[in-house]
Amino acid sequence: MAKRSGNQYMRKDAVFIYSEEQLGYSFSETHPFNQKRITLTLDLLTKMGAINENDILPPRMATDDELLLAHDSKFIQIVKQAGKGIISKEVGEIYGIGTEDTPIFPNMHEASAMLVGGTLTAVDEVMQGNTKYAVNLGGGLHHGFKGKASGFCVYNDSSVAIKYIQKKYGARVLYIDTDAHHGDGVQWSFYDDPTVCTLSIHETGRYLFPGTGKITERGNGPGYGTSFNFPIDAFTEDESFLHIYKTAIEEIAEHFKPDVILTQNGADAHYFDPLTHLYGTMNIFEQIPRIARDIADKYCNGRWIAVGGGGYDIWRVVPRAWAQIWLTMKGQDAPSGILPEEWLSKWQEQSPVPLIQTWEDPSPLYEPIPRKAEITEKNEQMLNQSLRIIRNETIV
Ligand SMILES: [Zn+2]
Repeated sequence: MAKRSGNQYMRKDAVFIYSEEQLGYSFSETHPFNQKRITLTLDLLTKMGAINENDILPPRMATDDELLLAHDSKFIQIVKQAGKGIISKEVGEIYGIGTEDTPIFPNMHEASAMLVGGTLTAVDEVMQGNTKYAVNLGGGLHHGFKGKASGFCVYNDSSVAIKYIQKKYGARVLYIDTDAHHGDGVQWSFYDDPTVCTLSIHETGRYLFPGTGKITERGNGPGYGTSFNFPIDAFTEDESFLHIYKTAIEEIAEHFKPDVILTQNGADAHYFDPLTHLYGTMNIFEQIPRIARDIADKYCNGRWIAVGGGGYDIWRVVPRAWAQIWLTMKGQDAPSGILPEEWLSKWQEQSPVPLIQTWEDPSPLYEPIPRKAEITEKNEQMLNQSLRIIRNETIV
């Protein structure tokens, strides 16, 4: 009833963008990027009674004109042809598709445009005042470039969405990326643009894809000082991760004064994640959305759009981590204790590993790290270096 109202007093707290069509973004049965994560998350929220069908809005497909806001026309054409099986391997590889990371799959264009459209649907819902917050877990494809796919990402939904926000709503956007990999595609899309601020906290690129995201990547020309990177060391644990994240987001939001916040919520900074080397636990995934929401409430009258991202332990990590985003949006306290029995028994049959039975991770999750103090200190120095530019200190 109140859903389409522009009246802020009638607006919903949160909208969950989802339809089964989002699951069509699938490289292969064995590829680490697996959208079953969304099904598992939604089912967890459903079985705990935290979401119902009135909360869910289906995505639309992004149009070619919308994709062109952040992508080259030739690249879009190639993706369309690839999905119909009519380009050669050599041509595909020039555009980053048909590679080991980003294989070609049927209807690749339609499936990719559907993920972008989901984020655009979330944007419109928030910017038109129908809801305070919106989440599209199918989005977060932060490695997509203007003219090239990369790192499991074809079209970059966040880049398209930010351009769309600029064009349609004229708003200043703060993009916050907590995926364990650097949010390179989004950063480069707005590297020269002073009206978009990108913030990425990630495992240092020394040993991890894509290798960029150094603190010296601060933006270019008029955009200098609106790109922030926080490369943390391998084996970083919860306390240091959260300290860096909270300090960075608070100081940058105060400095930049955004109108709207877009967060990318990759869940691959967890100790269990098979592709990265960070030592996060469920504590960080409980806190990340809560801190982002507080910032959106403080600076943006609540306007907050969240998207998914990486996350390759789809059974033990991603559902619990991503459920926290929705629970935060609905103003619910972080749950504790055992997960819904029905969810555990349903999915344990399919899971190749024993599911974690509780919202919290078992403690301790891993052997103590001898270098903890050293890593924490190194991260702290990195944080201070990266924030110097807005603390009016000399950059060295
Ligand atoms: Zn990642």
